[in-house]
Amino acid sequence: MADVTVKQLAEVIRMPVDELLIQLGQAGMSFSKDDDVISNDEKMELLAHLRQSHGKLDDKEASTKKVTLNRSKRSTLKVASAPTGRGRGSGATTRTVNVVVRKKRTYVSRSAVEEEARLKTEEEDRIKAEEDAKIQAVEDAKIKAEEDAKAKVQAEEDAKVKAEDDAKAKIKAAEDASRQQTADAQRIAEQEAKANTDKQPPRKANATPEKDQRKPGRGKAGGADNKARKGRYGRAELHVATDKSGRRRKGAKRKRTVSIQSSDEHGFAKPTQPMVQEVNIPESITVSELAQKMSIKAAEVIKVLMNMGTMATINQNLDQETAELVVDELGHKSVLVSDNEIENRLLEELSEVEGELLSRAPVVTVMGHVDHGKTSLLDYIRSTKVADGESGGITQHVGAYHVETSKGNITFLDTPGHAAFTSMRARGAQLTDIVILVVAADDGVMPQTIEAIKHAKAGEVPLIIAVNKIDREAADPERVKNELSQHDVIPEDWGGDAIFVNVSAKTGEGVDNLLEAISLQAEMMELTAVEECPANGIVIESSLDRGRGPVATILIRNGILKRGDVILTGSEYGRVRAMFDEDGNVIDQAGPVTPVVVLGLSGVPHAGNEMHVVENERKAREIAVFRKDKDRDQKLAHQQQARLEDAFSTMSSGKVEALNLVIKADVQGSMEALRESLNKLSTDEVRVNIVAGGVGGINESDVGLALASRAIMLGFNVRADATSRKLIEENDIDLHYYSVIYDVIDEVKKALSGMLSPEVREEIVGLAEVKDVFRSSKFGTIAGSMVIEGSIRRSLPIRVLRDDVVIYEGELESLRRHKDDVNEVRSGTECGIGVKNYTDVHVGDQIEVFERTEVARTID
Ligand code: GDP
Ligand code: MG
Repeated sequence: MADVTVKQLAEVIRMPVDELLIQLGQAGMSFSKDDDVISNDEKMELLAHLRQSHGKLDDKEASTKKVTLNRSKRSTLKVASAPTGRGRGSGATTRTVNVVVRKKRTYVSRSAVEEEARLKTEEEDRIKAEEDAKIQAVEDAKIKAEEDAKAKVQAEEDAKVKAEDDAKAKIKAAEDASRQQTADAQRIAEQEAKANTDKQPPRKANATPEKDQRKPGRGKAGGADNKARKGRYGRAELHVATDKSGRRRKGAKRKRTVSIQSSDEHGFAKPTQPMVQEVNIPESITVSELAQKMSIKAAEVIKVLMNMGTMATINQNLDQETAELVVDELGHKSVLVSDNEIENRLLEELSEVEGELLSRAPVVTVMGHVDHGKTSLLDYIRSTKVADGESGGITQHVGAYHVETSKGNITFLDTPGHAAFTSMRARGAQLTDIVILVVAADDGVMPQTIEAIKHAKAGEVPLIIAVNKIDREAADPERVKNELSQHDVIPEDWGGDAIFVNVSAKTGEGVDNLLEAISLQAEMMELTAVEECPANGIVIESSLDRGRGPVATILIRNGILKRGDVILTGSEYGRVRAMFDEDGNVIDQAGPVTPVVVLGLSGVPHAGNEMHVVENERKAREIAVFRKDKDRDQKLAHQQQARLEDAFSTMSSGKVEALNLVIKADVQGSMEALRESLNKLSTDEVRVNIVAGGVGGINESDVGLALASRAIMLGFNVRADATSRKLIEENDIDLHYYSVIYDVIDEVKKALSGMLSPEVREEIVGLAEVKDVFRSSKFGTIAGSMVIEGSIRRSLPIRVLRDDVVIYEGELESLRRHKDDVNEVRSGTECGIGVKNYTDVHVGDQIEVFERTEVARTID
């Protein structure tokens, strides 16, 4: 290092020459003129002297390991844009900020250069011990240190940390004692170290990187920076995003700390430390949602993703792992949550029903075999005639009625008696307090009677037996008691607990007794509901109305449902746009155990789903979306449902050794023929297993069986009814329609051998229901029909169906609409259909138009 004059040194360390001269004198060196040359060694001596006079030698460790320099410079800084990035908006204003620039550098004897500094202190040691051997010692130590430096670094690391703390405390003490002198000493040392600054980066902990601290992208360093930002007075300081000024990027590299003292310099006090947030990450989350959870702009997230090599849009869904990476990268804490957890938590919140328990009316489900008089009995009670309007006399849905009787209010649920609705009835028992089992006195216990008993028992619901039709001559109530006792339903007068009431839905005899029995039973059960809570309930039926959209009948269980409430049921939600009671009257609100018809849902909910009022639409949507995703996932998982095309590959891969089939045919003869021929196809390796076979249209229970046994469904000259069609679609069941037995056998055979030819797919293009039949001399028999599905096209082949069974296959002769010949008639419109060579069309028949397409098979 070049020697300097006293004057130059004074300039560098910014102190009057006189003072420097005095200090030099005190250090035992005689300089008189300001242009006397001070050698390096003499500077060292001065340094040693000053340190000694500050008591620095007390801790040799500290002083030898580390030198900390502090300097502050006040200046003003013109900031072109809002310096804080987010939050403050406009970037156009220029503002002047008072800036205190603090340089705080700590040099640790990590490398040779620092070793030098350390050794200089060793030198001081020697001054103390023996004043003259100073120079030589420095030289020796220097060489030695350079050799040892590398080996020592690791060992010294621990000591340094300790030393650093000590040194800090000391520096502070020294400052208080004699700030001026400390500064001098440091200045000298700084000058010494100056040449090394660029080579030797200061310890990070003491030098705050200038890059925008607020960017969560730097959040990881945040922990260290927080400490660093505590100024030398131990006070938190604001930090200016200097890189936003556009000038300080270089400065950043020089590790300059720019800090603004929040106390008096200016008014704004923006939080500058990155807020570390706990971010809940569901199984999938969109970029914008994720950004929102971290309170940053989506662009920041996209930037991080880009750095990770993923190009994402704002609405893109990220999987949990990616989202976790992003969150970690941005310095936040990620908390992984499964969808179920979220849903459960929300549900828990929703299901919490607190409040005064008020007694409520019982919900009574009427069950029993078809035609035993369930609807009639209900009608009598309601004194209206619902059965008249029903198609085919079979209740097509779960109707619900709130009835005010002389014995108190009762809510009745009329469950369908048809076998196809078994599953729905199962739900019926769950929302029920009491089951009324209707048994016709002249007919006795029937299959569905037994089914109903099972449901009631499974649901632990008390049973009241209404022995109906006692007005009939053939009525034999004792026989009913007898038969029921075989199914563990023991009448009270026989020592059991089952209440039997003889009634007649026709004459009304005994109905009052029945009502009394119900209210007695209800009283014993002490049924309660809460009214002052967000409403909840159960969907008992739903449909899609052409004009009104999704329509749901909901039985309110707790709370008061009002028009305008946001409701959530399953994966559907919406604001209650309108409400009706069971008679179709507009109502504004409904309390516990009243059935209401609700409009305004986003889609048709499943019957049996719970309904909850949610505080806002956003939350409702959130849960609905979760559930939808979950449903979709489950559906995907379900797609392992067997398909004929895959039969060979799944079998040859050893996954199945049997091909399960559910077959429905038009007549018993075809059924037997099919059963026999298909069973013959079984070989040692592959077995054809007909899980179920029967005659008639494909109904819900057939679908249930196919679903449960992973079977492929074959319809021979029969079709699936509307409900089962929906189920088949929902569950993605493989259903094939055939009209020639050999086709069935051929197809199954080929599927088993993996040699499926190009498939001839029959696609049903449209379906029309015959409303009226005209006979004209000119056109023959014309079926006045309503197109209920798809469209009817003239050029295609047709089939005539009666009760979902094919009764005729042929050609469409004429298609007319209002006396005009047309080529196509769409769903929802009426038309006249003439079937070639077929005159026996009845009202209620269905005419199916289909198309044969060839689909190339791919088996890989
Ligand atoms: P559901 O299928 O169980 O709903 O039975 P319905 O209520 O539709 O009744 C079936 C048939 O039985 C109808 O024709 C009714 O008129 C008749 N029916 C129902 N209850 C009685 C009754 O108490 N006495 C007589 N004589 N006929 C009844
Ligand atoms: Mg009925």
